[in-house]
Amino acid sequence: MREDVATDRILIVGVGGLGVPALWSLARAGARRLTIVDPDPVEVSNLARQVIYRDRDIGKSKVDAASRWLGERFPGVKVEAHAVALDASNAARFVAAHDFVIDATDSPAAKFLINDTCIAARTPFVYGGVVRMTGQAMTVIPTETACIRCVFETPPDEEEIQSCREAGIVGPVAGAIGEMQAGEAMRASRAQKPLLSGKILTYDASGTGRVRITGVSPRPGCGCGASKLGHHESDSQGK
Ligand SMILES: [Zn+2]
Repeated sequence: MREDVATDRILIVGVGGLGVPALWSLARAGARRLTIVDPDPVEVSNLARQVIYRDRDIGKSKVDAASRWLGERFPGVKVEAHAVALDASNAARFVAAHDFVIDATDSPAAKFLINDTCIAARTPFVYGGVVRMTGQAMTVIPTETACIRCVFETPPDEEEIQSCREAGIVGPVAGAIGEMQAGEAMRASRAQKPLLSGKILTYDASGTGRVRITGVSPRPGCGCGASKLGHHESDSQGK
């Protein structure tokens, strides 16, 4: 199983608050093959926090602006850009072409689609989410560690997430979570065990900037297949 993740095609779904810091971090860390998927154009409100975008990018697709930015600064990185939404019609195809997936979306529906598609394809992925001043990240190794549905039986409240987009306070939290996600992808691509597989990291920026890492067990009856194998809190595999 570990050997299966020792490859380097990384899919980043969403190049906004989480995806931009994740991309930058991946490029700095030496990632070679990245695919970015996002249907949205760059908007004025993105410029302050999604720092790779410039005035001249407004109205252009985020993926095109992001791949041009990467091409100028990190010419060794091969970037494939798709200005489309990940949806039920294309998710399986995108996931099948990659070895690791970064969920950098801000839509509960997309998060569950990524979860279910990666579970079906047995492709590891890292979840990232920001609600108000709290960010979370968790890596899922299908059939081994708990999935998103093990943790969140129902999708988070869309209205609450929308209010966060508008509040404009999530930039630094999203930056930290996006970098964590990139780190998980790089560990996987180097055949190292991701730090957050079977664990959820919570970063609470409202108080003292507390970071907490909690082990999560597969939920019996989830259907993702991890429940049968039990939960390994430490890396006991292969000893
Ligand atoms: Zn599950």
